Amino acid sequence: MPARIIDGQAYAQRILEDVTKQVRELSETLRPAKLSAVQVGQSSASKLYTNMQAKQCESVGIVYQLLEHDEQISQDQLTEQICKLNADPDTSGIILQLPLPSHLDAQAAQLAIDPAKDVEGIHPVNLGRLFSDGGGLAPPTAQAAVELLRDVCPDLAGRQAVVVGRSDIVGKPIAMLLLLRGAPSPTVTVCHSQTRDLAEHTRRAEIVIVATGASQMAWQGYRRKVQGGGAKLPPPDLSYLVTADMLSENAIVIDVATNRIPKGFHKTGEPFTDEKGKTAMVTVGDVDFQAASRKVSAITPVPGGVGPVTVAVLLRNTVRCAIGAAG
Ligand code: NDP
Repeated sequence: MPARIIDGQAYAQRILEDVTKQVRELSETLRPAKLSAVQVGQSSASKLYTNMQAKQCESVGIVYQLLEHDEQISQDQLTEQICKLNADPDTSGIILQLPLPSHLDAQAAQLAIDPAKDVEGIHPVNLGRLFSDGGGLAPPTAQAAVELLRDVCPDLAGRQAVVVGRSDIVGKPIAMLLLLRGAPSPTVTVCHSQTRDLAEHTRRAEIVIVATGASQMAWQGYRRKVQGGGAKLPPPDLSYLVTADMLSENAIVIDVATNRIPKGFHKTGEPFTDEKGKTAMVTVGDVDFQAASRKVSAITPVPGGVGPVTVAVLLRNTVRCAIGAAG
């Protein structure tokens, strides 16, 4: 039987309706919710990203402020900007756009953000709360992945869950959210690049959450080598990390990854190009969706799964910060 396709757009819509209502109430009773984004330097990717944030905020009535800084800004000046936003009563939440130029210490800058305005849930205070009682702000991607899972499968108690990926903002927080007391908890195994036999773990799991971005990493590594010159290289291996034979038939699969990789390669080794002569790219997850969706019980698509829910959770975090400030 084909898998249930978990509709992230529909779930995100439910969150956004709630957020819109809360934003309206806040505006009427106290002050509008406001998200302030700090950007250092400029690239077409960051422009695209901040434009998207502005549009998403506008769609729910959150005020969006983008503070653009020169590439040469010093660490002290950046900290000063963040401290100003911490003290600004109109700013409910703060986002520091990454990556920062190499002379800046991103971790130190993130540490300067008031944990009560840390909409991305990356401050050690919020991560620490996730580790203990879960009362802080969780990283939106991790929260989105676990919420979608709990929506499809409310009774996770005692199930075998495997999380692939152990980053501080995605893999580990997913594992921590699954282990929080007070909600039905699965038994959690966390796999990573040094896991000996990944398939052995995923095959016995009833829940598989994958968050590596392995094929995009392989593509980026290949491009760095090509740009560095040297001999002509064969195309990189961009095959899926998790194939259908690595999953059991009753598995629920949450694919968190967003890999931007070439659509394919000619026999000569050159990537396919689009009508403008640029490398034709696709967005895929870590899991072979086509094959897995004919086998497993439920699966998120990429795009259209965890991504839209992540955005909705970020906006909900902004409202939570605004309400926190109100209280
Ligand atoms: P990181 O690069 O920080 O972490 C990747 C993790 O994957 C590491 O723990 C790494 O292991 C593990 N890994 C890499 N290769 C393998 C492998 N072959 N087998 C098993 N594990 C492996 O990435 P992030 O956690 O920041 O992001 C993960 C993915 O999630 C990316 O695709 C990213 O684009 C996506 N993402 C999606 C979002 C959304 O809204 N949907 C938002 C944020 C991220 P090790 O620690 O041993 O190196």
